[in-house]
Amino acid sequence: MLKKELNIYTFGDLLEHYPHRHIDKTKVSKIAEINMQTEFIQVAGKLMYPEVIGEKRARRLVAQLQDDTGTLELAWFQGINWVQKNLSPGMQYLVFGRTGFFNGRPQIVHPEIELYVPAKADGRNFLEPVYPTTEKLKARGLNGRQLGKLTDTLFSQIKPEHLPENIPDAIRLPLKLMDRCEAVRAVHFPETAVQYQHALRRLKFEELFIAQVRLNLVRLQRHRASKGVVFERVGDYFNTFYTQYLPFELTGAQKRVIREIRTDTGRGHQMNRLLQGDVGSGKTMVALLSMLLAADNGYQSCLMAPTEILAQQHYTGLSELLKDMPVEITLLTGSTKTAQRKKILKGLLEDTIHFVVGTHAVIEDAVQFKNLGLVIVDEQHRFGVAQRARLWEKADVPPHVLVMTATPIPRTLAMTAYGDLDYSVMDELPPGRQPITTVHRMETARANVMDFVKTEITQGRQAYFIYPLIEESEKLSYEDLMQGYEQVKSFFPEPKYRISMVHGRQPAEQKETNMQRFVSGDTQIMVSTTVIEVGVNVPNATVMVIESAEKFGLSQLHQLRGRVGRGTEKSFCILLTGVKASKEARERIKIMCATNDGFKIAEKDLELRGPGDIEGTRQSGALNFKVASIVNDKELLEKAKMMAELLCEDDPELNMAKNLMLKSHLQSQPQKNGWGRIS
Ligand code: ADP
Ligand code: MG
Repeated sequence: MLKKELNIYTFGDLLEHYPHRHIDKTKVSKIAEINMQTEFIQVAGKLMYPEVIGEKRARRLVAQLQDDTGTLELAWFQGINWVQKNLSPGMQYLVFGRTGFFNGRPQIVHPEIELYVPAKADGRNFLEPVYPTTEKLKARGLNGRQLGKLTDTLFSQIKPEHLPENIPDAIRLPLKLMDRCEAVRAVHFPETAVQYQHALRRLKFEELFIAQVRLNLVRLQRHRASKGVVFERVGDYFNTFYTQYLPFELTGAQKRVIREIRTDTGRGHQMNRLLQGDVGSGKTMVALLSMLLAADNGYQSCLMAPTEILAQQHYTGLSELLKDMPVEITLLTGSTKTAQRKKILKGLLEDTIHFVVGTHAVIEDAVQFKNLGLVIVDEQHRFGVAQRARLWEKADVPPHVLVMTATPIPRTLAMTAYGDLDYSVMDELPPGRQPITTVHRMETARANVMDFVKTEITQGRQAYFIYPLIEESEKLSYEDLMQGYEQVKSFFPEPKYRISMVHGRQPAEQKETNMQRFVSGDTQIMVSTTVIEVGVNVPNATVMVIESAEKFGLSQLHQLRGRVGRGTEKSFCILLTGVKASKEARERIKIMCATNDGFKIAEKDLELRGPGDIEGTRQSGALNFKVASIVNDKELLEKAKMMAELLCEDDPELNMAKNLMLKSHLQSQPQKNGWGRIS
């Protein structure tokens, strides 16, 4: 039962099944004290009149609890027979639970209930632990407090050697962390609330620290074990470009990341780096400079994008930048003609082509390189680890891998989810960008919004209208889009205005054509679903109208907004909603209007949704913490990370005497044993 319901298999598991709260057992309230504001209460009284009433789903066992001030109704919808069998009418019971009102009278549904024994006189267990449990277990009488009794019994037999310390003293003592055995005991059975907080802090730190140590060991192990091509020199390609053709001064962040990449690729081990940069932070230039570095060392590079449009844009942009350089660059996508394709494949095999830009599906499948040294993947969240691995197979010594993503992930999340990768952040935008002005408008103000868009278009700019189409197959939202298109068309009649429409139901070719017309400025308006979300660069577009903005998540809104504000003109993002947006939706929109900073938005997103939902981290087991929270325990996480890094660099095998108990803890963890089994 415990196994299935709570995943408790061993005594160790039971010890780590921490209470979610403690109740002051000495405090027994009066029933008359219950009012609308009461949340949880503990009362004692005589149990009377248990009876089963109601039909079907309303069938329930009710009983009355009476003290000298009033009566409280108790109700059970599950485990009725079992509970009824075990209740003794007329006896005194101690009852705890969340209070509610039913027909104007106070009630507790599925209370925690036991025969009343006044609090122990010895003062021990003054704060009694209450554990998370499940309805099923409760129905069987194993409620949150009885689990505590089990744990209490277990503790009477626990000795410090059963819970050996796993954090080296040199780290633990300066941070004033309780020792492990004491902390586990105190988190279950604290003597005071303050002691409980200390215990909790220690256990949180332990959890974060152990996770960080593991990640660091994996990363360092990879550094040492992997072979990598060596980019030892900066040569003519890089230098000539840098001094003669670089169209702007690099930002500090770009310079820093290039330095990090140089160090990585010079060491003889494979680079596996994640580059996170907010939309518009200039990741493409970092990619190009890295590719030039590869060329200087005699290696080919490939740059992969998730869509044809993006690959095309990268190719056009890079070719322009490289037009006076002796560099061969080519584009390879699904629509590359057979003859051309043959030529490219030959060029890659003979090393006459330095750079290939393309969609990853294409590059992955058929392409052989003579001398591949660097793979750059744009927009990581559409590109899996397995796919990356397949690319490495193409070379004896695996190429360096740089994965770029414009989906900002909060630092704390990245630290835990990607702690085993090398990780760079570009949190700085190029200078001179005008911040995008974001406003929220009700649908009722649509006419004004349209007028505004019209003035922008009259000044020669372009505009996006984005519709939510969560599932491309969803018929309803598809009709919304069509209606929206008609509406936009009636405000912006042809032939004076020209409109492109792009959505997921179109054949790829039509999508490309429509997109291309907007990119080239042939159409002024783009009506689209979120398919344009990633990476598209149309600097002349200055307005983005997001329809039904309440239906989008924060990071998606931010990604979409990143499509404007890419040129020198002032840009605007207008979030249209109905009047009935939910509280959370209004909160999201408020944040969008308040900041353009993707990392701030990602932090908020994490707070609002919790770590489980953040894109790209869902499968990462690294986030399943028992007590720690990457949202609420940021400071502890920072400390844990720093300590873990220092320790691992100092002693990567954990062979020093002071680290041995940590090592044995890590080794003992995967096969949780040594505690025997309970059921
Ligand atoms: P993203 O990081 O979103 O991929 P891009 O690489 O597309 O961003 O860059 C966005 C725009 O900023 C491009 O037009 C690019 O030329 C420009 N840009 C990049 N770096 C700088 C810089 N250091 N100074 C000025 N403009 C820059
Ligand atoms: Mg980009």
